[in-house]
Amino acid sequence: MSKTFAVIGDPIDHSLSPNIHSAAFRELNLENSYIAYKIPKGELKEGIEALKKIKIDGFNVTIPHKIEMMKYLDKMDETCSIIGAVNTVTNNEGILKGYNTDMDGFLDPFKKKEIQIKDKKILLLGAGGAARAIVTGFAKEKARHLTIANRTLENANSLAQFANKIGLDANATTLEKVEINLADFDIIVNATSIGLKNELSPISLETIKPESVVYDIIYMPMNTDFIKKAKEKGAKIIYGYEMLLGQAVRAFEIWNGIEAPYNAMKKALLGGV
Ligand code: NDP
Repeated sequence: MSKTFAVIGDPIDHSLSPNIHSAAFRELNLENSYIAYKIPKGELKEGIEALKKIKIDGFNVTIPHKIEMMKYLDKMDETCSIIGAVNTVTNNEGILKGYNTDMDGFLDPFKKKEIQIKDKKILLLGAGGAARAIVTGFAKEKARHLTIANRTLENANSLAQFANKIGLDANATTLEKVEINLADFDIIVNATSIGLKNELSPISLETIKPESVVYDIIYMPMNTDFIKKAKEKGAKIIYGYEMLLGQAVRAFEIWNGIEAPYNAMKKALLGGV
């Protein structure tokens, strides 16, 4: 039986999710469809009612609804309740269950490339919604220490408190202070929105050690200034598209209960960037 899925958010026109999921359906000869559905801020309740009426089988949630959507769930899995945000929903005869696949999506490239997180010293730039899912991932994988650097110190502080609460040794600082000595970090992640509009890297990467892993979660453009600077220093790179792909693969598997065709989804994504 064919199923229907959607991604909801605003703006939504440039979402890459319809491409990625449609490619997966084609690859597996599934007659499913996946649409982008614009729901402006303040209209989420009506939007969800409309989705229920058409008996949507599942949907992804993106900016600005990832937190507010929690209110409309009947059930949620552990990732969703710990992170406090939802990006994937299943609809089982009107019962909505929420998941957060950003954390698994973020961790996926580490697993694929066999890069250890356990006992590593980590620097995370940014303290927004995506950073919260990432912190949860680092806690799960038992990182040794996490430094959170952010433009607004207060936001870094509250994320560090959250990290401590879930068992991760963490401290907070500013972007200016942290760039002075980066040689101490094994893994450096950009989870700010800097780079989306081709801005310069949020910090200079002059002082990183060459064997460090540098991960930018911005996926468009693929080669941000942050990534370019890391490449110049010889670091091992993880691209934002790898996280995007990881979260889509996990959502596909939750909805369809079968293994996602990773390579077909990757091809659709890279063709579209
Ligand atoms: P939020 O709006 O929740 O957080 C934005 C973060 O960026 C905050 O830490 C904010 O700092 C910082 N920031 C924004 N503008 C500036 C600036 N001019 N200078 C310094 N810091 C700045 O966004 P999300 O956490 O939801 O998403 C962040 C980015 O990650 C987005 O660009 C999104 O596209 C990307 N993303 C990628 C995913 C993937 O699959 N690859 C998945 C999810 C997100 P402050 O606290 O000071 O405001």
